[in-house]
Parts: sequence; C-alpha cells; structure tokens
Amino acid sequence: QPITTDMATLTKEIDKYAKDKKLEIETLKIREEYRKEFIGNVSHELKTPLFTVQGYLLTLIDGAINDEKFRDKYLNRANKGVERLIYIVKDLDMITRFEAGDLRLNITTFDIVELVKNVFDLLEMKAAKKKITLTFDKDYSKPIMVNADMERIQQVLTNLVVNSIKYGREKGTTEISIENLVKNKVIVRVTDNGEGIAKANLSRIFERFYRVDKSGSRKEGGSGLGLSIVKHIIEAHDEKIYIESELGVGSEFSFSLEKAK
Ligand code: ADP
Repeated sequence: QPITTDMATLTKEIDKYAKDKKLEIETLKIREEYRKEFIGNVSHELKTPLFTVQGYLLTLIDGAINDEKFRDKYLNRANKGVERLIYIVKDLDMITRFEAGDLRLNITTFDIVELVKNVFDLLEMKAAKKKITLTFDKDYSKPIMVNADMERIQQVLTNLVVNSIKYGREKGTTEISIENLVKNKVIVRVTDNGEGIAKANLSRIFERFYRVDKSGSRKEGGSGLGLSIVKHIIEAHDEKIYIESELGVGSEFSFSLEKAK
C-alpha cells in the first residue's frame, strides 16, 4: 500500500474515511432501531396468548379442575392459546429463515389451475361461514404449467384468500382468477369487495406485524405476519406481488409466476 504524502490527497482521504464511518454508524443505528422494534413487537404479540393461557391454568389450579364442565372448557381454551403461540413462532421462524437467506425453494413444474382449484375447495366452507361467495372461473379447461415451489405458492394463495375472507364484508365475494399472459408469465389474482385499505397504509401492508386496525385484526386472530411471508415467498421466486385497494371498496392482490416452457 503506497503511503500518501501529499497533504491535499491526505485530507481528501480522511474526509472520505470520516464520511464512510458516519454512514456506517447511521446504518448501524437504523439496524439497532429495527432490531429493538422487532423484539418489542414479538414480545407484545406473544404476551396476549401467554397471559390468556396462564389465566385459564390458574383458574383450573384454583379449583375449576374439579368441575367437569369448566375443566374441559378451560383446558380447551388454554390449548387454543398454545396453538396460537405455535402459529406465531412458526411464522416468525419462517420469516427469519427467509431473511437469513437459508430457506431454499423446491421448484417443480405443476399446473397452477389445479392448485387454485385445491385452495378453492379447501376454503369454500370457510368463506360460506361468513356468507362470502368464493368464485373461480372453472372454465380453465386446459392446464397452465408453471415453474415454482408448489407448497409455498399454495401458502401464498391460502393467505391471500383467507385475508379476503377475514377482511371481507358479509355476503361479499372473493374472486380468484388466472391471467395467462402471452409472454412467459401468468398472473394470479385474488379480488375482494371487502373493507379495503386506505392509501396511507398501503405501503406498510407487507411489513411484519403491521395491521391496519389492531383491535379489529386481533378479533380476526391475525398476527400481522401473513403478508410479510407472502412477499418473501414471491420475491424468493424473483417474481412480483402487487396490491390495488380502495378503502370501503375492496382489494386486489396479484402475483406473477413463470410459465413452464
Ligand atoms: P393479519 O394476521 O393481521 O391478517 P397480514 O400480514 O396477513 O396480517 O395482513 C396485514 C394487514 O393488512 C391486516 O391486518 C389487514 O389490516 C390488512 N389486509 C390484508 N388483507 C386485506 C384485505 N384483503 N382487505 C383489507 N385489508 C387487508
């Protein structure tokens, strides 16, 4: 490494070094903020179900265990709380693995029409419970083959359809459709006429833990991780996810996939 003797060059180098260091410190600060917020969110998210479970267990210990009717009811509720905790931890684990880059996709060639039909059949009942009509134009008579991770794409589609039911209006509709583009892509769309999302919140919708209406979403039993996972999965495929939404009118989520040759 040559030693700089010329004063002007030296000053320039020192300035550049200082600037780089400053940027580095700024980046570290932002990262630290992000980390703090993340830990805060995790503990907040875990606290509610944990206290609920503890509440039921304490009541049982206090004597409810001797009353057959209460015993079963409280044990079941405690179990529901534990189930919820497991869901949250599993989701977090998946996000962490995606962010660390150690979640590999298992790419195969499969028929996206078939996959949509499966998701449709699995969720039709859930939609019907809220009097929401799920539609998928069964007219896709020919298969459309895509290259992707089938299990993960099923997860994406399930998340989007479940959301459209959760945030849909009673007697509303959710439409799933596939657009077979001339080029090498297909677009899968999930469109609802539910509560919609205000413009101001749209840009944050894919952030982990982000929910528009905390109380409302909690009633629906979400943790704000679903869309973050959806985005990770689509981006791991090098594809894109789009959202269009209008408050009080409805939302449309769509994502692209690569067609098999
Ligand atoms: P959650 O577990 O809260 O459902 P998500 O990450 O799946 O978490 O979604 C984040 C937030 O985005 C939801 O809490 C809700 O406010 C909003 N959202 C998602 N999908 C829809 C939709 N189809 N219509 C209206 N709002 C939606």
